[in-house]
Amino acid sequence: MASTKHRLIMVGPPGAGKGTQAEKLANNRGWAHISTGEMLRSAVASKSDLGLRVSEYLDRGDLVPDELVIGLVKERITWEDSQKGYVLDGFPRNLEQAKALDIALIELEEPITRVFYFNVPREELVNRILSRAASGSGRSDDNREVIENRLRVYEEQTAPLINFYREKGVLVEIEGFGTVEEVEKLISERI
Ligand code: AMP
Repeated sequence: MASTKHRLIMVGPPGAGKGTQAEKLANNRGWAHISTGEMLRSAVASKSDLGLRVSEYLDRGDLVPDELVIGLVKERITWEDSQKGYVLDGFPRNLEQAKALDIALIELEEPITRVFYFNVPREELVNRILSRAASGSGRSDDNREVIENRLRVYEEQTAPLINFYREKGVLVEIEGFGTVEEVEKLISERI
């Protein structure tokens, strides 16, 4: 029997643990971990044209223009390492991006197989991000003021994705406040 090619999305507020879980899952299974935040941070670090265009958005905690990230992801999922499966982490971030992804995947005849929604209480999120910063995340956007904006942007623009994917029947809700190992187990049971 041909094995299923898993095409997963991690959705949740900043600090919910999406990145940690996406990386573990992808490494364990030999899938690509596609983090738009990491792609954008490395563009900023290398001072590429893209980096220069997006650095202000990252510093403020605002979303970068849709066409930039949509282009990045559409290309990235065609790479060799994505062909066994991939985990999208931090994309899509709003309905426009989700719809553009849908159209691209319909063309490839490879729809999203699961969307994991990390549900974590707000107080826990701020504490987690601040402790991530204290232990040296090196992220300029891990400070209280920018965190508040990132949480606001999440509520206004990203949270509507939960219903969008629930209606498509691919949403799996994960209580994200356990340990890394507990959350990892919950995900692998529902994949
Ligand atoms: P993250 O590492 O996912 O928390 O993303 C860090 C920052 O990168 C965000 O605050 C945004 O400025 C930018 N970013 C990451 N992914 C996206 C996306 N899908 N759309 C727009 N901006 C994004």
